[in-house]
Amino acid sequence: MSNINTQPEKDSFRDHIAIITDDGKRKDIYPKKPKGRFYNARTIFSIFLLAFLFGMPLIKINGHPFMLINILERKFILFGAAFGTHDFFILALGLIAFIVSIILFTAIFGRVFCGWACPQTVFLEMVFRKIEFLFEGDYFNQKKMNMAPWGLSKTTRKLAKWSIFVIISVLISNTLIAWVVGIDELVKIITDPVSKHLWGFISMIGFSGLFYFIFVYFREYACIYVCPYGRLQGVLLDQNSTVIAYDYIRGEPRGRIKKKETRPSGDCIDCSACVAVCPTGIDIRNGTQLECVNCTACIDACDNIMEKVGKPRGLIRFASENNIRNKAKFKFTAREIAYSAVLLILFGLLTYLISTRKPIDVTILRAPGMIFQEQPDNKISNLYTMKLTNKTFNDVPVSLKLENLNGELKIIGNDIKVGPNDVSETKFLVIIERNEIKTMNVPLEIGLYNESGKFETKKINFLGPPPQK
Ligand code: SF4
Ligand code: SF4
Repeated sequence: MSNINTQPEKDSFRDHIAIITDDGKRKDIYPKKPKGRFYNARTIFSIFLLAFLFGMPLIKINGHPFMLINILERKFILFGAAFGTHDFFILALGLIAFIVSIILFTAIFGRVFCGWACPQTVFLEMVFRKIEFLFEGDYFNQKKMNMAPWGLSKTTRKLAKWSIFVIISVLISNTLIAWVVGIDELVKIITDPVSKHLWGFISMIGFSGLFYFIFVYFREYACIYVCPYGRLQGVLLDQNSTVIAYDYIRGEPRGRIKKKETRPSGDCIDCSACVAVCPTGIDIRNGTQLECVNCTACIDACDNIMEKVGKPRGLIRFASENNIRNKAKFKFTAREIAYSAVLLILFGLLTYLISTRKPIDVTILRAPGMIFQEQPDNKISNLYTMKLTNKTFNDVPVSLKLENLNGELKIIGNDIKVGPNDVSETKFLVIIERNEIKTMNVPLEIGLYNESGKFETKKINFLGPPPQK
């Protein structure tokens, strides 16, 4: 990535991170309130994301959640369709496709997911930070208030802000629980005595505390120290990746505007407006850095300055290193083409698996270790094991019929009934008169019926003794 500073003292940003002081303590970040077209677009986009996050658990179809990610019981409902452990391939493939698409997206567009769609950034910048601006004013007032002694105004504002932060943290925690166990279960956790849902209650308190800690105290530390995705940027980005970049060809040599003095010829007036708005405290003019979450606040800040000084916008913009240094146009690299091909194959496979997915899956196998059994009255039987996977939300009673031969089909045990999203195993015997057996391997057709009629015909083989001459 670009390195525009050649003087050793200016390269010092590489030896430390912006949020740590020289003596190793945390440096408080007070980002200036962003203002501009990207910030407005992010606000609108975040409203959609938040509506999705908070709204989805409330939607039900035929009494079942529209979305449910119950990792505890390994039950998933995605857009109304139920998935379980039996759909392992689909879920695993979906997860791999998701990871590859993030890798591909990052290689092309950089870390734009972090700034625009990551829940951490959306909640921090679009919810908590906005409330902070509302109660404590912009960055300068916040800093001043934090350094001032406690008085009525400071106490009232802080208490009001913290109370709202607690309410939002509880709300986020409850929403997370609703995504996992469903809204009905969440209502029970809230309304029933605590002893009935002790773990649910502990989770609610625990997650509320965790979210409060993350969004009120931990903040940018989550992106810089904890998030593994951030750490991967070094291997995912290259000279052609589009990132938030400072156009050093146009901006340098930088210099402040001073009256009656000639200033350097670069467009950057060294006003530090881009640094003031940065929620991770970095100076994007030093090039792409691990801390940058691509929030675009610095683009807005610099565009506003450029407009004021009568220069074109875009001194900081979405651009690749190649684009800035060589004025190269966007082009797909071999790596991106390879990622796209893998992604295409994965999505193709996923589409095939989902489109051919049956609501009830049936496997019938002849019982291992047995060929055939002699039965009274000159009859021969074969023993089979049937595995039924019910991928619906309802109980499914199933009956079997021998379709292509005269014979008897005898279920061993009770009638077959498989519960919602459950798997059942049944054994049954097919009994055929010896004189019906014309070959040692008789093709059989078993019809499977539920309440609405036949839903599948399974073709299996019946093994018999050599036919009588
Ligand atoms: S450098 Fe710019 S895009 Fe990156 S985190 Fe800071 S303000 Fe956001
Ligand atoms: S906001 Fe623009 S002009 Fe001001 S310091 Fe940053 S890059 Fe330079």
